Amino acid sequence: MKETAATLDQAHQWLAQMEKAQRSAEAESEDTGAKRREVEAELYNGKVTNIKELGSLQEEFEQIKSKLKQVDDRVLEVMGEVDVANKSLISQEQKLKDVETQWRLEQDSLAGESSILQAAITQLDKKRGTLAAEITPASLKVYEELRNIMQGKVVAKMEQGKCRGCRLSLSVHELKRVRSPNMVQCSSCHRILYMD
Ligand SMILES: [Zn+2]
Repeated sequence: MKETAATLDQAHQWLAQMEKAQRSAEAESEDTGAKRREVEAELYNGKVTNIKELGSLQEEFEQIKSKLKQVDDRVLEVMGEVDVANKSLISQEQKLKDVETQWRLEQDSLAGESSILQAAITQLDKKRGTLAAEITPASLKVYEELRNIMQGKVVAKMEQGKCRGCRLSLSVHELKRVRSPNMVQCSSCHRILYMD
C-alpha cells in the first residue's frame, strides 16, 4: 500500500507540474497575442506610410504570427500532457482504493476466522471440562501426566488383541480389563486403552 501511495504522490506532483507549464504557456500565448494585435493595428492604421517602415512592420508581424503559432501549439501540447497526467492520477487513486478495499476485506475475513476459532476453542474447553468432571480425579491425573510425557497421544485403541499405540500384543488379563468400565493402561506404552 505504501508503494501505491508513493506512486500516487508522484502522479500528483506530475499533474501539478503540467498544470504549471500549461499556465505559463497560456500566459505567453496571451502576451504574444496582445503583441500581435498591437503590431497589426500599427500596420493597418494608416499612420505609417514609409514603405521601408511598412516593410519592417510587416516582417515583424509575420514573425509574431509565427511565434504565436508556436506558442499556441505548445499550449495544446501541454494541455494534452495535463490530460494524460490527470488520467494517470485518477487511475492511481483507483488502484490505491482497490488495495485498501482488498486489505480491509482480508482484515474482516481474518477477524471472522479468528472469532470462529475462538468460539470453537471455548466450546472445546467447555466440553473438556464436562468430560473431565465425569472421570475420577485419579484417572484425570494419569491422563494429565501421560499427556505431558506423550505429547498428546495419550489414548490408544485396542484392536485384534493389540495396543494401536505401540502395536504390541496385550496380555489376556489386559484384554479382559479393557472390557471393564475401569481405566486400563497398556503395560508397554502406558497409553489409556479403549475399544469400540
Ligand atoms: Zn501400548
